[in-house]
Amino acid sequence: MINENKKLDELTLSQWESLCDRCARCCYEKIDFNGRIFYTKKPCDQLDLKTGLCRVYTERDQVRSDCQRLTPGVVAAGILPADCPYVQHIENYEGPTMEEE
Ligand code: SF4
Ligand code: SF4
Repeated sequence: MINENKKLDELTLSQWESLCDRCARCCYEKIDFNGRIFYTKKPCDQLDLKTGLCRVYTERDQVRSDCQRLTPGVVAAGILPADCPYVQHIENYEGPTMEEE
């Protein structure tokens, strides 16, 4: 279990990865419109829709040049959904606009 007061950039790689609940939503294509991020319903072609896992996880940013590995900086950029565990510590986090189901 991760200490709530521990900052994201102080986590080990294993602690960092364990925060992800594998919802896969951040693997859907996004549109940046005037600085506001909108999620689309189009999944990345490397996302296995049955398992919700990336087929090329260890080499994901080599296979897909637009795939960004999550870092504290990427988390702070506001592209993750508002209920993603990585952004729960950010006060008043709005998050992107999600495509309606
Ligand atoms: S949105 Fe968050 S919890 Fe869901 S897959 Fe992405 S990083 Fe993991
Ligand atoms: S390549 Fe990146 S965006 Fe595509 S499924 Fe894998 S982790 Fe998700």
